[in-house]
Amino acid sequence: MSTIFSKIINKEIPADIVYESENILAFRDINPQAPVHILIIPKIEIPKVTNIYGKEHAVLLGEMIDAANKLAKEMNIADDGFRLVFNCGNHGGQEVYHLHMHLLGGRKMKWPPG
Ligand code: 5GP
Repeated sequence: MSTIFSKIINKEIPADIVYESENILAFRDINPQAPVHILIIPKIEIPKVTNIYGKEHAVLLGEMIDAANKLAKEMNIADDGFRLVFNCGNHGGQEVYHLHMHLLGGRKMKWPPG
């Protein structure tokens, strides 16, 4: 089932897009939890991590990591470090069922997460 992220991909609703390629899109989270909080998503509809299959999606996942590294460098958070997060399902705290990787940085993260 399509989510609000499909509307962002199709430019039906606005988002602060920071990177786009044929396969992926990255935009600022509407409710940022850190000075840098970007969502990196595939354009194809994959609901969550349990729908990822290594052989099928390895290149796509690699492209998402490459985009995170590129954006982290551009936003000057690469040297201090950052966090990449996939929330999966109810206990994982997932709200939007279109696969997304959070890129969080610009402050020291806590561990364990809440
Ligand atoms: P999840 O909890 O599913 O891992 O994360 C979903 C994220 O999407 C949340 O951090 C939330 O703030 C963000 N989000 C939800 N709706 C929108 C939207 O319409 N635009 C943007 N830019 N972010 C959104």
